[in-house]
Amino acid sequence: MPSCLFCQIVAGDIDADVVRVGERTLAFRDIRPQAPVHVLIIPKEHLDSVADLTYDHADMLVEVAQMAKWLAVADGVADTGYRVVTNVGADGGQTVGHLHFHVLGGRQMTWPPG
Ligand code: AMP
Ligand code: ZN
Repeated sequence: MPSCLFCQIVAGDIDADVVRVGERTLAFRDIRPQAPVHVLIIPKEHLDSVADLTYDHADMLVEVAQMAKWLAVADGVADTGYRVVTNVGADGGQTVGHLHFHVLGGRQMTWPPG
């Protein structure tokens, strides 16, 4: 079994509330939602964070963007708006070491983020 939590979700070893499976990505609901809509999009391939991205990941990144839009439409927040955010490292607020993009919506987001 992989040691990484999100790799275990990709492998099906840990249950998650999966919303959509793409060719290169997987979307599932965050276990501790911070907004009415809070879904995580992850690459199936293990990458620690956006710091690991190269041009080889371009197709995967476009899939993330299209997946986020699809989720926003499906959850009814495409018109009101949503936020796509990813954290890197301790000061960035990253707690899971597998690249993931938060898709947040259903309430007014604040800026700057906390
Ligand atoms: P970050 O703090 O940016 O690394 O985000 C990690 C996110 O993963 C947090 O919002 C957690 O609530 C979420 N999370 C942790 N474990 C799980 C899990 N088993 N299923 C779904 N979401 C999770
Ligand atoms: Zn992983």
